[in-house]
Amino acid sequence: MPLSEPPFAGLAAASKGATLTLRARTVLPMQGPPLDGGWLRLVRGRIVAVGRREPPGRVVDLGDTLLLPGLVNPHCHLEFSGIPTPLVPQQPPGGLAGWIPAVMGARQQPGCSDVAAAIRVGLRESAAAGVTLIGEIATADPSCSYPQQGVPRLRVYRECLGLSDARARGSLTSLRRGLDRLPSRAAGISPHAPYSVRASLAAELLRIAARRRLPVAVHLAESREEQELIQTQGGAFRQLLDSLAAWPSPAPRLLTAADWVSLACRAPRAAFIHASFLDHTAFARLARHRNRAAVVVCPRTAALISGSLAPVRQLLGAGIRVAIGTDGRGSAPDLSPRHEAAWLVDRGLVSPAEALMMLTTSAAWAVGCEHAAGRLIPGRPADLTILAPESVSADPHADVLAPSTRVVATLRSGKPIFLSA
Ligand SMILES: [Zn+2]
Repeated sequence: MPLSEPPFAGLAAASKGATLTLRARTVLPMQGPPLDGGWLRLVRGRIVAVGRREPPGRVVDLGDTLLLPGLVNPHCHLEFSGIPTPLVPQQPPGGLAGWIPAVMGARQQPGCSDVAAAIRVGLRESAAAGVTLIGEIATADPSCSYPQQGVPRLRVYRECLGLSDARARGSLTSLRRGLDRLPSRAAGISPHAPYSVRASLAAELLRIAARRRLPVAVHLAESREEQELIQTQGGAFRQLLDSLAAWPSPAPRLLTAADWVSLACRAPRAAFIHASFLDHTAFARLARHRNRAAVVVCPRTAALISGSLAPVRQLLGAGIRVAIGTDGRGSAPDLSPRHEAAWLVDRGLVSPAEALMMLTTSAAWAVGCEHAAGRLIPGRPADLTILAPESVSADPHADVLAPSTRVVATLRSGKPIFLSA
């Protein structure tokens, strides 16, 4: 159905008013079961009631659509959004140590050098994919590059790295300046990875996160080369770091994946990105800290770069929340979390219902926004995704993920930030 025709034209018009009731074929509140013939009542951009059958007052009937909480992408690097196709790791050495030089080269290309423009492109693409909240890793000064309105909400994790003492001190100075410019509800800290952050910097970053009550995000156990560097100070990563003159003398102390889990969980929330090569100790620590720790998997990036995915079933079985992210356009073909989820479902790793939980409730939790996003509950901002399935099956969760299902509208506080043409 074209969006210039009712009911979608009505949606755009009605959202300008203070009160709005939306009815869909199925509402998926992610709080209780799907509601066939469900509706949502909004007042001044907030959800005030969720129900089914006959709603009160004037209604915008969205026809054969699925209405769900806005999707949350808990891990992205928007600054790479100008990269048209994923970068293939350089051979040799391949893998992550071969991908990093490729992305460093791409950063110098015209589509990437204007970071603010790339971020705007990525925000538009995200809204068109039904995303209303992004866990963003920022290497640039975050305050100057991110629009605040008309785009998905952001949790901006300021990325920090440093193997040498001097680089670590510079990173801390830059972090403090950056955090002072961001509201705490939108800020976070990202110690980059075990192979790029010395132990003393890690400890200081987590002191800051704990003191300011900020969530953290860490790339963890992404490659075998990471383990090799930590255990032997050698391997492909060491060669890469030497070639970049980034490996200092004397050698820095690095933390194991298990120690990273314990340290990062001093923050109120810790998202561990990838976690493809968890050893037994790191897994056990994640389980112990599951009231603070989440794992974020980015399946298509993991398949491209390391060829290995986190042990999703075992993590879920241990009660650890697992969320689905896209990573950036340097390693993912698009910024659609639904496409990442379909990858997992197609391989039989999770059910469609589990996948939807990972795209909404668990993803909101991973970025420390579980009180405002991830479920349709009265009192929360009306951040919504409206989908049009081509055909309707018995399982609305599967319909959400079907390749032919289109995003027709994405709403933030009841206002469209994307309307399909
Ligand atoms: Zn990443």
